[in-house]
Amino acid sequence: MQRREFMSSALAAGSLAAFKFTSALSRSGPIPDIVAITSDGADITLRGAEVLDLAKRLQGQLLLAGDPGYDEARYLWNPSFNKHPALVVQPVDVPDIQAAVSFAREHNLLLAVKCGGHSHSGQSTCDRGMQIHLSKFRGAHVDAAARRVSVKGGTLLGQVDRATMAHGLVTPLGTVSHTGVGGLTLGGGFGRLARRFGMSIDNLESMDVVTADGELRHASNRENQDLFWGLRGGGGNFGIVTQFEFKLHPMQRQVIAGWLRFPITKARDVLTVFADYAATAPDDLYIQPIITLPPGGAPGMAEMEVGYCGPVKDAERALAPVRKIGTPLSDSIKAMDYVELQRSGDTSDPRAVATYLKGGFVTSLPDDLIAALVDGLEGDPRRATAVFFQQCGGACSRAPEDATAFANRDALANMMTLSGWSSGASDSAEHIAATRRYWSTLEKFTRGFYVNDIAREATARDVNSNYRGNYARLVALKTKYDPSNLFRLNANVQPDRAKRVTSRV
Ligand code: FAD
Repeated sequence: MQRREFMSSALAAGSLAAFKFTSALSRSGPIPDIVAITSDGADITLRGAEVLDLAKRLQGQLLLAGDPGYDEARYLWNPSFNKHPALVVQPVDVPDIQAAVSFAREHNLLLAVKCGGHSHSGQSTCDRGMQIHLSKFRGAHVDAAARRVSVKGGTLLGQVDRATMAHGLVTPLGTVSHTGVGGLTLGGGFGRLARRFGMSIDNLESMDVVTADGELRHASNRENQDLFWGLRGGGGNFGIVTQFEFKLHPMQRQVIAGWLRFPITKARDVLTVFADYAATAPDDLYIQPIITLPPGGAPGMAEMEVGYCGPVKDAERALAPVRKIGTPLSDSIKAMDYVELQRSGDTSDPRAVATYLKGGFVTSLPDDLIAALVDGLEGDPRRATAVFFQQCGGACSRAPEDATAFANRDALANMMTLSGWSSGASDSAEHIAATRRYWSTLEKFTRGFYVNDIAREATARDVNSNYRGNYARLVALKTKYDPSNLFRLNANVQPDRAKRVTSRV
């Protein structure tokens, strides 16, 4: 995902230089006027006194360019996105979030919301708007007796797994522990336990959300049911979720997990086993094929990740079809601590590699898709290329299509291709073009896409068709709760009354 973007306005750049000086002195000192941008792309001057007033109302922090923490806030997991918000608010409580949302709405400011910063489309930061960065608003509180966990809106997955597993309880979340609960859950939430316990949204009991009018609303099956429905799959369209309440399930500490690694020449066999077994595998088994071509001409690899969370005595029987791929180069499958497994895909230095991802749901893997996947994979000495699948099905598929806003319940897997290159390399356009070329041979096999993997170039029409029969209901909700489309940096559902909106970033 490469899009190096720098501040384009000389005016704004001048203002930022002034902020650096001011903010270093004290936030209670005067702040110069700031040239920022509205959600419609027009310049707007924020009076320094108004910004100072906002800063004074916060328990948390207001950061301007040059302040300690500003860069960390604006950076995302993917270093391709190098944007500079005019203001960053780091709330520590709900009133802070309400104050920031109201300020953004009153000034019609472009608004980005960041939790874990994993957005593939770079929509949790922005140039010259306001970013609400939830990193100081984290924590998970377990009520073991009630089998519930309350999670603040800025929390990372690993914090939840750690807190709940201390009680032998779990809620299904994603596979990389530094992903944000906020973004992952609102788009759906797939992971190693989703086939057993359902998607993350299927495990929500309630959410508290600050909507565009600045009100805090409780959404559950008893209260604001319409909002509760839309928040489960509708992404960040309806407001900032301050608290997620998930149900918990008893979970053993040890699971059987690991990787079978084969040479790239076995890619077809790995994918064929996935095609044949993914739909009928027990719900306790998660399998994920990954085909990788590293940069620099190193040999490619075909891998199958497995995670089995059923009774240990049944593990080998569940794995038998996977073992039929043949003798691997290496086999790391063993009993593992679940929390450790959840951390095993964490990136130690995410800012070293820029990435670009395309993805879509498949309901099967016919032979011609496997042929396109294997024959079309193109190596490049400067670029790593991978194609991988997040297995769905099982409990994910048992909810009806209209039970929540998430519509792609029939998916067998989320198919993704990703390219990665050294951060800062100047040939990103070439890598992105190569990924798109490859994807153009695969896309016809997909039906819909995961909104959390929305491509940066996605259009409103893409979003519309992805939600299938649920779209009209989402538009009605958006019109009710966010008529001015304040929350637009997401897979944007556009309200009826919007005069001029776009989902392009
Ligand atoms: P952010 O970039 O912080 O936020 C993304 C968007 O979410 C924001 O633009 C905003 O619209 C919204 N948002 C975030 N928090 C809130 C909130 N509290 N209230 C309202 N809106 C909010 N997905 C899976 O399902 N399973 C996986 O296993 C998985 N693994 C991944 C691994 C990596 C390394 C990466 C980069 C992504 C992965 N994803 C996975 C995709 C992931 O779900 C999305 O990237 C998701 O948007 C990440 O959420 P975040 O909070 O980290 O992102």
